[in-house]
Amino acid sequence: MISLVIPCYNEEKNINEFFIRCQEVFDEDVEYIFINDGSQDCTYEKIQDLSRYYSHEKIIGINFSRNFGKESAMLAGLKKASGDYISVIDADLQQDPIYVLKMVDFLKCHDDYDSVACYQDVRKESKFMISCKSLFYSMINKISDTHFERNASDFRTFRKYVVDSIVEMKEYYRFSKGIFSWVGYNTYYLPYSVQERHAGITSWNFKKLTNYALDGFLSFSTAPLKLATYLGTIASLGSLIYMIIVIIQKLAIGNVISGYTTIVCLILLIGGIIMILLGIIGSYLSRTYIEVKHRPIYIIKDEINYDKDK
Ligand code: UDP
Ligand code: MG
Repeated sequence: MISLVIPCYNEEKNINEFFIRCQEVFDEDVEYIFINDGSQDCTYEKIQDLSRYYSHEKIIGINFSRNFGKESAMLAGLKKASGDYISVIDADLQQDPIYVLKMVDFLKCHDDYDSVACYQDVRKESKFMISCKSLFYSMINKISDTHFERNASDFRTFRKYVVDSIVEMKEYYRFSKGIFSWVGYNTYYLPYSVQERHAGITSWNFKKLTNYALDGFLSFSTAPLKLATYLGTIASLGSLIYMIIVIIQKLAIGNVISGYTTIVCLILLIGGIIMILLGIIGSYLSRTYIEVKHRPIYIIKDEINYDKDK
């Protein structure tokens, strides 16, 4: 059986279309797990209608108490999934379910692979966005021990035991691209082309994407913390050399009071560096603070349970 984990945020106009498209594509048994991530529209009502209308289909609905983000929605869905092959797919039809079939077929034919991830071979985005994303991948792959495959999306299919490992990771800040890679296993990368959104608007903007990228750095690398040590060492060496110069000047020329500009520049420069480093340390500290609180990653208000509701 194939399980589809479908995070939904304000997708009322897409739920039906998505389901109909899946019906066209799949011949075998499919378990649909819709997660309503605190939508402000009638997404959950649409999911309820769907489960009533297609009561013979295995449709599960999870209703969050508020918007917790796609990462939390994915986790909730993955925990519920019981299929042999489990796919994460968006509700907006940007990711055609036909690729789920391709991924499952690939896994069926290749026992040595444990998961398949789709990546966009051609990105339909602005040049600026493409360069920002490319910079992100180059930087994170330099400073993180976890490998991040370029352009790999969350549109993936896993064997059940891979999902078991993913849900084992209990961290609050979930950067799934990193988690999928961190758990290891053999992943095959399949090219796919992204479709236009069927209806509604994307919930991602540049600010959100930047924060998401920062999440990636903070969750999967501690290299920025080492920056303090490196910069401190360089500053100390520089200071030592400058100290020797000043002492020689003092011995050779006597009491020299010039150097006001140098002192002001140095104070500003070092002050700035210290502030940046404090900011970096603060970012890690605040995350540690949130992590140790062990708050739930999401809260479920109510559920549509296929077995119970039958
Ligand atoms: N989504 C979600 N919670 C959020 C934001 C998005 O569950 O807070 C879902 C959304 O409904 C969609 C998927 O995540 O199914 C991808 O979101 P979106 O289409 O906005 O992102 P994009 O495709 O533009 O990257
Ligand atoms: Mg989308």
